[in-house]
Amino acid sequence: MKPDYDRFGGVSKPPIPFHRPSVSEADVEAVSGVLRSGWLTTGPKVKALEAAVAGYVGSHESAPGPFHAVALSSCTAALHLAFVALGLKKGDEVVTSPYTFVSTGETILYTGAKPVFADVERATKNLSPEAVERAITPKTRAIVTISMAGHPCRSAEIEQIAKQHGVPVVEDAAHSLTSRIWSVPVGAQADISCFSFYATKVITAGEGGMVVTKNQEWADRVRRLSLHGLSAAAWSRYGKGGWWEYDVTELGWKYNLTDPQAALALSQLERAEALRDRREAIATRYTKGLTGVPGLTTPTVAKGMRHSWHLYQIAVGDGTPTGMDRNALGLALREDGIGTSVHFKPLHLFPWYQKRLRVKPGLCPEAEAAFAQTLSLPIWPDMTEEDVDRVMERVRFHLTGGA
Ligand SMILES: *Cc1c(COP(=O)(O)O)cnc(C)c1O
Repeated sequence: MKPDYDRFGGVSKPPIPFHRPSVSEADVEAVSGVLRSGWLTTGPKVKALEAAVAGYVGSHESAPGPFHAVALSSCTAALHLAFVALGLKKGDEVVTSPYTFVSTGETILYTGAKPVFADVERATKNLSPEAVERAITPKTRAIVTISMAGHPCRSAEIEQIAKQHGVPVVEDAAHSLTSRIWSVPVGAQADISCFSFYATKVITAGEGGMVVTKNQEWADRVRRLSLHGLSAAAWSRYGKGGWWEYDVTELGWKYNLTDPQAALALSQLERAEALRDRREAIATRYTKGLTGVPGLTTPTVAKGMRHSWHLYQIAVGDGTPTGMDRNALGLALREDGIGTSVHFKPLHLFPWYQKRLRVKPGLCPEAEAAFAQTLSLPIWPDMTEEDVDRVMERVRFHLTGGA
């Protein structure tokens, strides 16, 4: 289908997808090298990626390590094994945000524990510490935070609440590998942090995830659980001087990351700061260009917080001159050949979760209000300024009618 923007601009331009991963020649070389190496599953590249991510998270002097990192096949796997390592079970409650991807909710449910949703703050869509406090009961066994879009959550206050109640904090850090709180990388605050290397995330392995913790016991357990609960990995069984023998220590899963994926993530990690700088430049351009458009709210960054800009989320309110709402704008941009997305539909608005957890709309009004208005615009490192300007021109046109 020929996009509609031809009717306005007169010049045919290629579509702007919602996301396009930034893959460099060095990335391609890194993966090719592994393909030629003769070792395709978990091996030296995975080990190197774990060391590099642990080093990255522990790179600030006020976040003394050592941090232990375990690479996994996804952030979903990381969350699941983090919850197993914490010993979550049936009858336990986990206080978390409904404003997240389904991974957070489903992995809590895998263990038999029950997610208890606390409301978010409108501006950041991150957990409100006051709401967390109110949601805690004698059955609470963990708090799970999310740093939405890459804006760090209020982890110091949440950590304090967790300490008072003697429960650990797990951070779903899927958006926030390059986020910082007063210069300290996200991942250094919670008891366990889980990162994602999914195709759209700040660095990618195509698919992949990582558990980061200072607790060696939890890290060792996550590693065993990621390989069937075996006492020795293939890496030590088939490597030089290896021997076939192993024991089954407990029921495990198959959640390991592979070396070609790790090589890609490792190569991307070297550019992580540059990729974030590029995202930030795009975000700054959007905010400058879209501030003042009636009915539209641009994202803000709280003092001391460094945003990863995994997502650039605008809010489309009621007061737009054309009367367009979030969905109408998303559809209009799609006609223009511009991809957008919505992050996220709060979990308690899905009928399946409502039935399973006996919850209803109205449970988290701030999350619901934020969801109704939010729209994620394209923000990927290889976008040109012309791309960004075209997105803004079309947004302005649709919301103001060209006024
Ligand atoms: C992407 C994402 C995940 C899942 O990551 P995978 O690596 O795809 O499993 C979990 N939580 C949030 C908030 C996410 O955005």
